Amino acid sequence: MTAVSPNAHKKARALKPGSRRPAKELCSECGLCDTYYVHYVKEACAFINQQIADLEQEFHGRSRDLSQENDVYFGVHQDMMAARKTQPIEGAQWTGIVSSIAIEMLNRGLVEGVVCVQNTEEDRFQPKPVIATTPEEILAARVNKPTLSPNLSVLELVEQSGMKRLLVIGVGCQIQALRAVQDKLGLEKLYVLGTPCVDNVTRAGLQKFLDTTSRSPDTVVYYEFMQDFRVHFKHEDGSTETVPFFGLKTNELKDVFAPSCMTCFDYVNSLADLVVGYMGAPFGWQWIVVRNETGAEMLDLVKDQLETQPVMSQGDRHQAVQNSIPAYDKGVTLPMWAAKLMGVVIEKIGPKGLEYARFSIDSHFTRNYLYMKRNYPDKLEQHVPDYAKRIVGQYKLPE
Ligand code: FAD
Ligand code: SF4
Repeated sequence: MTAVSPNAHKKARALKPGSRRPAKELCSECGLCDTYYVHYVKEACAFINQQIADLEQEFHGRSRDLSQENDVYFGVHQDMMAARKTQPIEGAQWTGIVSSIAIEMLNRGLVEGVVCVQNTEEDRFQPKPVIATTPEEILAARVNKPTLSPNLSVLELVEQSGMKRLLVIGVGCQIQALRAVQDKLGLEKLYVLGTPCVDNVTRAGLQKFLDTTSRSPDTVVYYEFMQDFRVHFKHEDGSTETVPFFGLKTNELKDVFAPSCMTCFDYVNSLADLVVGYMGAPFGWQWIVVRNETGAEMLDLVKDQLETQPVMSQGDRHQAVQNSIPAYDKGVTLPMWAAKLMGVVIEKIGPKGLEYARFSIDSHFTRNYLYMKRNYPDKLEQHVPDYAKRIVGQYKLPE
């Protein structure tokens, strides 16, 4: 192997916007290739070189213990809890724990900047990655941009600005690439705050999803697939619309998700220091996974703004997951009355807390495994991490 000179990335040229990316149709537009760090793309790209176990070892001091179910599902962690802000941030995705941690880190001088994603002036769902240096800029990035977002496209600016202490907020594929080039950024300290992520879409795909699912696609300001087995849409006028998962037009939506997300097995953002989502927590609460000491330090900063409770788990997901596999595969859509009924029944007796998170992970991993087997059989062995093979192995898959 030839040694890479420390400034080698400066000689690489960012790829032109819109040009074909090295991961081809599997590219999730994480932003790395928009910078001179494209030099490292073959090692760094989550869709070319899956290396979660090695990077866990490097950044958390160990990789998942495959004899521990919680490690297999949720990744390396030292703590997990349910939490919510006692005073939620208006307009945040949930209660705004992510934005609050970022603001606290900036205010206390732990970091000089925060990589996060605002939206463009013209389009509330069009991502605009920034390096925020004020609390106002962090707040302007609150709420999900439910589209592929090139968060890493601002990485060149980090090095040029001379910043030495940085917080990056991002989803799994962005964080995998970031970890792979972390030591090239010239930083003294990098903090990584992750969210889980699944079923993301291009901006065009998002429009199709909204058009097929919501009663008023143009007024949606926020949506989430919630723990009550319904999609919740919030509209401009403050009203909430709910649509049961089982009533989604699966046949029309089958191709809406980005191919990158159909081959992703890093739902829980394995390489972040701290992960803030919702799916392992009771309805209305957020779910926090502390992966290492850095993550614990970050969470400590906002503990006095949070109400917390231990994680819980209830129900048994297996049969529901097994039933969902052929239903998704065949693109079955239930009539709305049946979907609502099924939603009510499953909410009463279905999986809750961590078991709901396992339900969601199992459903997505089995679907994605089948997709890979059919479309990228040669990549299957290297690309699917061992923990995911274990999860998928519990179910009977169609050919
Ligand atoms: P806020 O304080 O509102 O802050 C949100 C932060 O997310 C902002 O800092 C912003 O920079 C960042 N962000 C927004 N959009 C993107 C994007 N496209 N890429 C990278 N960063 C972004 N959690 C689950 O438990 N299960 C899921 O299935 C799940 N799916 C998700 C899918 C997507 C596409 C995204 C972006 C997040 C998903 N999450 C999921 C995380 C969850 O929806 C919340 O983002 C999380 O709980 C934080 O809420 P908050 O109120 O603390 O965030
Ligand atoms: Fe480049 Fe990121 Fe696309 Fe991979 S996913 S090809 S690293 S932009």
